[in-house]
Amino acid sequence: MASHTLSAVAASAGIGTGKIFVVSSPDLSYEAGTCNDAPAEKERFEKAVNTFKEKILEKSDSLKEKAGPKEALILDRQLLLISDPSMSDEMLRLIAEGHSAEEAVDSVCNIFIRMFSGMDDELMCQRAADILDVRNSMLKLLLGLKDTDIASVPKGSILVARDLPPSLTSQIVRENINGIITEEGTRTSHIAIIARAMEIPLVCGAERVLELAKDGDTAIVDGDQGLALINPDREELDKYSELFQKRQRKIARLSQYLGKETVTADGQKLSLFCNIGTPEEAARVLEQSGEGIGLFRSEFLFMDKKAEPSEEEQFEAYKKIAEMMEGRPVIVRTLDVGGDKDIPYLNLKKEENPFLGLRAIRYSLAERQRFSLQLRALLRASAYGKVKIMIPLVTCIEELRSVKSMVEDIKTELDGQHIPYDKNIEIGCMIETPSASLIADILAREADFFSIGTNDLIQYTMCADRGNSGLSYLDSPFHPAVLRSVRHIIGCGKNAGIPVGMCGEAAADPLLIPLLISFGLKEFSVDPSSVLKCRHDIHKWNKKDADELTEKIMSLDNIDEIKKTLAD
Ligand code: PEP
Ligand code: MG
Repeated sequence: MASHTLSAVAASAGIGTGKIFVVSSPDLSYEAGTCNDAPAEKERFEKAVNTFKEKILEKSDSLKEKAGPKEALILDRQLLLISDPSMSDEMLRLIAEGHSAEEAVDSVCNIFIRMFSGMDDELMCQRAADILDVRNSMLKLLLGLKDTDIASVPKGSILVARDLPPSLTSQIVRENINGIITEEGTRTSHIAIIARAMEIPLVCGAERVLELAKDGDTAIVDGDQGLALINPDREELDKYSELFQKRQRKIARLSQYLGKETVTADGQKLSLFCNIGTPEEAARVLEQSGEGIGLFRSEFLFMDKKAEPSEEEQFEAYKKIAEMMEGRPVIVRTLDVGGDKDIPYLNLKKEENPFLGLRAIRYSLAERQRFSLQLRALLRASAYGKVKIMIPLVTCIEELRSVKSMVEDIKTELDGQHIPYDKNIEIGCMIETPSASLIADILAREADFFSIGTNDLIQYTMCADRGNSGLSYLDSPFHPAVLRSVRHIIGCGKNAGIPVGMCGEAAADPLLIPLLISFGLKEFSVDPSSVLKCRHDIHKWNKKDADELTEKIMSLDNIDEIKKTLAD
């Protein structure tokens, strides 16, 4: 048997070896032609829609349990799509005109797929993938085809597929799947998000894997290096078995950091918080012994819904997190909409450059009525824990002042209604624009805290769209411009005596940690799955060594050299 090593995208970390199970794509072809009995066809269509909805609800519940609530939202989105009148009315119209239900579903979905996939925007491409999944599931139902049975693949399997849509991933039994290889997809595909949440090694975009892999063949998935090995030889199997054991030992070693304080080698106590998108994820934070919430992306409460959440709904969500965290800090970022985050019912205006447009705090301040509801909900929730308010995409002091003044007005209103809230609620700024960085000294006089959003700070500092894979060489926290900016922000916070945290992805980068310690960062906010590793990395450094390394790094002039020196 010939062995093959395929380069692919490392989409979910880890190493898995096992027997290949090829997930074949079903034949969705149908006979085209006119249909004489439109009412019967309509009934068939409606029956399929109802079954589709029932199945999605079941699958969403199952995915919620296996991967998490945020991941299950991917499926919930499909419910909205099939119920969206712009799709369903058009399908019904075609059926009334004499087209078959298959044809109606196929052609309407294809119009939307073409429209969304033609847009140079990651979110829109994901929308196209959602509709493709809806189309295929609906066609399967109409054609009476069974779902591929992933639930019963044997223990020790490696799934190989063109792509794995969310409707199939919900069936995965974690214990049975050692790894996944897909021919299509990227790090941001649905399957990648779900595999990371389920901690299954995954490589995407492995060209020709479907041609080379056969059911029952052996495969290794190297989700760290981005490799798929089909029918590996003895030597490769031994090498990977050793790597796997080493990895397991490392994971076991990390568990010693559960429930421990986050301290540097010379005893400096730091805070290690988590980034979450839904109240339910707070449970994962506690499980991993995160010390608080450093970033709750409140837009998740607004996304994938038909209408915006009321003050009461928001209050319940914030209160739930505050209570779960039992007095630990809960930093809630106010609605960060716009840019790549669209919320259809908010009817955001189409802009030439949405990343430079009416997004985040700019949008909230332009929609004060809506924003007051969120601030009221946050103030009310502050009576139940240590809630703090964080403003996204600040670029000038007036934005901070406007929010503070709105909060003061709402406090007076709540006093009048005898509604309790934290009178000393803190209001901080996300520092994620070059402008905020440059005026960090000014902002620090009036903000209660800073949190550095490196994801956006890098994109705006480097003038490089963070979703554009062709520019990924510029998307680096190690560029001297970004490092200088981060050092400056932390310094301004220190001078003003306010805490500075970091909630962008870079906070969990082990290479960056000594620099952040040296600059004086006090709070790291990372994904719950990175808490133990990050705590371990922080434990390794003392200030003196971190300062020496930082001095050397800050004298270097390019990303490659900086990264190489840090890795040595
Ligand atoms: C950031 O910009 O670094 C950040 C944490 O926010 P988001 O990724 O949601 O824009
Ligand atoms: Mg941001």
